[in-house]
Amino acid sequence: MRKPRRGVPRGTGGAVRTADSSRGAPDPHTPSLDADRFHEECALMGVYDHPEAANLVYLGLYAQQHRGQEGSGIVASDGNLLLSHRGLGLVADVFDQDILGRLNGSMAIGHNRYATSGRTLLKNTQPFVVEFSHGGLAVAHNGNLVNAVELREALEARGSIFQSSVDTEVIVHLIASAAGDTLVDRVIAALAAVRGAYSLLFLSQNELIAVRDPNGFRPLVIGRIPEKDAVVFASETCALDLIGAEYVREVQPGEVVVASAAGLQTYFPFPAAHRTHCVFEYVYFARPDSTVFGRNVYQVRKALGRQLAREAPAAADLVVPVPDSGVPAALGYAEESGLAFDFGLIRNHYVGRTFIEPQDAIRHFGVKVKLNAQRGVLDGKRVVVVDDSIVRGTTSRKIVTMLRAAGAREVHMRISSPPTIGPCYYGVDTPTRSELIATGHSIDAIREYITADSLAFLSEAGLFAFTGGNHDGFCDACFSGRYPIPVSDDAKARQLVLFEVRDP
Ligand code: AMP
Repeated sequence: MRKPRRGVPRGTGGAVRTADSSRGAPDPHTPSLDADRFHEECALMGVYDHPEAANLVYLGLYAQQHRGQEGSGIVASDGNLLLSHRGLGLVADVFDQDILGRLNGSMAIGHNRYATSGRTLLKNTQPFVVEFSHGGLAVAHNGNLVNAVELREALEARGSIFQSSVDTEVIVHLIASAAGDTLVDRVIAALAAVRGAYSLLFLSQNELIAVRDPNGFRPLVIGRIPEKDAVVFASETCALDLIGAEYVREVQPGEVVVASAAGLQTYFPFPAAHRTHCVFEYVYFARPDSTVFGRNVYQVRKALGRQLAREAPAAADLVVPVPDSGVPAALGYAEESGLAFDFGLIRNHYVGRTFIEPQDAIRHFGVKVKLNAQRGVLDGKRVVVVDDSIVRGTTSRKIVTMLRAAGAREVHMRISSPPTIGPCYYGVDTPTRSELIATGHSIDAIREYITADSLAFLSEAGLFAFTGGNHDGFCDACFSGRYPIPVSDDAKARQLVLFEVRDP
């Protein structure tokens, strides 16, 4: 067992010490209701029994940067200490060689956190690390608990004090107060009280536990590094590919997997539930080169595009994707329709979360930073532009304007998913119902708003053409309004007004 190098900041007292070298930008203080919503669309990575555990977790988080850009963290265990580093920003900005070198130990878990708006707060960055009477514990969560507010109120009534506004902390408090002889017993007892979406990684000083909720909303896979016989857990398989790990299988919905000196043990302690994998992972969220819920995302996206072409053909010269998320569906559309495919929009891949806007407003500046239209491709053409989804409608509107300004004669917008009509309460950040353009407007009103010559969405049935038309086993609440785990109106409202203490 390697000892931590000198210079590692340490906690004090106890057999288990946590060392947290967290850093981050100062918290912005602009009050915003939206900022107080739970934002839990994230990436998980865990490595058990490898001498370079933290380095591999870093690489796995790097591969899964698309699942979260707000902040990142890694906690490693050397069998005695839990060593933690968390920071705001991209993985490559949060960690460097020196920091990773201090995250000693043969097991580690990591997390990328995602939020599209509002404050970025270091205290909400994961993994959470706590010390309680049973030792140290780190937790990383992808998902969203629908009864977090009720549980939090009940815990606070019993004296719990919360540090963050993230629902994951509720799980930590439940574990701290749970009965059970072992950590896995306490984890299972705690999770029996929660409802919603959770893929979770727990790290104590000597074991790593992976859990997936009984519905299997969010992905979580197991891999193996054969040379070292190390076990890997990741949200997406693209993380396994980068570190040369073999894909073993998914953590099953409702499964608890414990990696410890005793090997891998697996439990199914929760009542069985109907599987409801998130279909939006296929539409937008996951990386195309990942296998999610047993299917390659790229192939599913192409199939969505082919189906869209069958359902909504257009008399046009050219199919243009909105890069990057619209590319596979646009390829599918072009293949099926026989139309030419070309990159009429080019994306700047180096755009960070923020940029400084010029004083004199430039029209559509925001989208221009990301995308530029190519006159050489578009001039005089009737264009089918393919994107994965319309949420508020602002992006599509700007894209149509840009395409026309670059010479497109006609613009036919095609969307490779149905209209987004409901917020997600299971872990994808979406605006409130009233902000979703498709909730209050007809397709023609949306077409008019985005100024397209025509607009078509994939049908709800067409969304499942890739399964032969079978909806079963998927959650499509954002498109259908059918929520597989009920969310009370009260809980929806209260998620927005969670109180937080901030620095002045
Ligand atoms: P909007 O301008 O609100 O209609 O946004 C639509 C764009 O946002 C599409 O190009 C999608 O690729 C992208 N998008 C869809 N869902 C999300 C999400 N949950 N987080 C970030 N971007 C998203």
